[in-house]
Amino acid sequence: MTLTAPEAVDVSEPGSPLPGDPRAHLTSPVTRAALRIQQGLLAGAREYLTGHGFHEMLPPIIGPVTDPGARGAKQVDLDYYGHRYKLMTSAILYKQASLLAFDKIFCIAANVRLEPLETTNTSRHLAEFHQIDVEAAGATREEITAVVEGLVKHMVARVVERFPNEFEQLGRDTAAFTALLAESFERRTHSGTVADLRELGHPQSPDAEIDWEGEALISRHAAQPFFIVDYPKGSRGFYDKENPAEPGTLRNFDLIAPEGYGELCSGSEREADYGRIVARIRETGENPAKYGWYLALMREGVPASAGFGIGVERLTRYVTGLEAAWQTNAFPKLPGVVSP
Ligand code: AMP
Ligand code: MG
Repeated sequence: MTLTAPEAVDVSEPGSPLPGDPRAHLTSPVTRAALRIQQGLLAGAREYLTGHGFHEMLPPIIGPVTDPGARGAKQVDLDYYGHRYKLMTSAILYKQASLLAFDKIFCIAANVRLEPLETTNTSRHLAEFHQIDVEAAGATREEITAVVEGLVKHMVARVVERFPNEFEQLGRDTAAFTALLAESFERRTHSGTVADLRELGHPQSPDAEIDWEGEALISRHAAQPFFIVDYPKGSRGFYDKENPAEPGTLRNFDLIAPEGYGELCSGSEREADYGRIVARIRETGENPAKYGWYLALMREGVPASAGFGIGVERLTRYVTGLEAAWQTNAFPKLPGVVSP
């Protein structure tokens, strides 16, 4: 089978080769080693989260609305008995709703985002990927970042211990994780990161997400994973809670991998107040009516919470040391590339 890329995208750039045909990809020793390590990471996630009282739920893949917060990505519509439905770009709305059933939940969910064509060469973007999605009622940002840290350390420790042959085969020296496992993850602010990037000569906007290049740059300058906290309002979805003590700043965070691998995880304390959620939706120029089922639940009340999503292919790429995220997916879909 031949895979084709749109002419606009030069996928032959170093670091972003096209996936081979499915047979070559699935039988490659590199793919097999990466998928074994990925399976170990997922087993480790289930072990850690269920061990800490989180209940695993199966995520919906379609619904009347989905997360509007994905930067620059298009949503996929489908016809649901004459109604326009969406494929999930993230599980966020359902994660908050699930807290009506259990206080601590997680799911391992597929997400579809038609990412802009210019992301085909970032080595980090797929049009279909997976997240380990976690949400905890009543949690603060400090409590939920402690879960992220404990979870990542548990997953990494588990695969380092169980898959030495696979790491050797991939040429990944697991000494890269010694400090990760021993030390606590550093915490920086968004504004501090903007200042650092400007000092490095990168013109990062103080009012926006850290852009692709900036993300790769700070990641290359880091030796260990670290959190960035306090993103500006407007850079994220309406569900990230605004800090009442510091309007304009969100009680959210990202986890950034070292060695240039970039963002692994985004999370936040959530906005649970109905009136503020509606106001935030309006601020982004959207019609709240679109979020009917979600807002009906919020109006009656769902628990305040905090949560996060870790990209499975992103994490696997960092842990395996592979060149591109698609190498860690059995049936990779690069943005704009026609593939099975
Ligand atoms: P976001 O909601 O955009 O912060 O996404 C949550 C996490 O999913 C990110 O921290 C990444 O690890 C992962 N992720 C987001 N978009 C993509 C993508 N297009 N391809 C692969 N992983 C992604
Ligand atoms: Mg993010």
